[in-house]
Amino acid sequence: MARYLVQYERKGCIGAAVCAAVNADDWIMNSDGKADFVGAVFNEATQMWEREIDESQLETMKAAAEGCPAIVIHITNLETGEKII
Ligand code: SF4
Repeated sequence: MARYLVQYERKGCIGAAVCAAVNADDWIMNSDGKADFVGAVFNEATQMWEREIDESQLETMKAAAEGCPAIVIHITNLETGEKII
């Protein structure tokens, strides 16, 4: 099953909450007004919050990424290197 890397640039989040509305399992609004990416780990090298997902989680994650008006959620196919969004 294909695996994907999801990367979140939290500093660019504008708190629109679309992510949490379409994918409440993975995105939760924090009291500071920005979204938290559930289960993600901060990568010092990329300065992004990151987590791997599999194919079964791709559609809901894509819905959050595509709905984000700030375009701060990115998804890359780890096998092909293709940037999905
Ligand atoms: S949709 Fe984007 S800008 Fe809005 S809260 Fe989620 S990550 Fe932040």
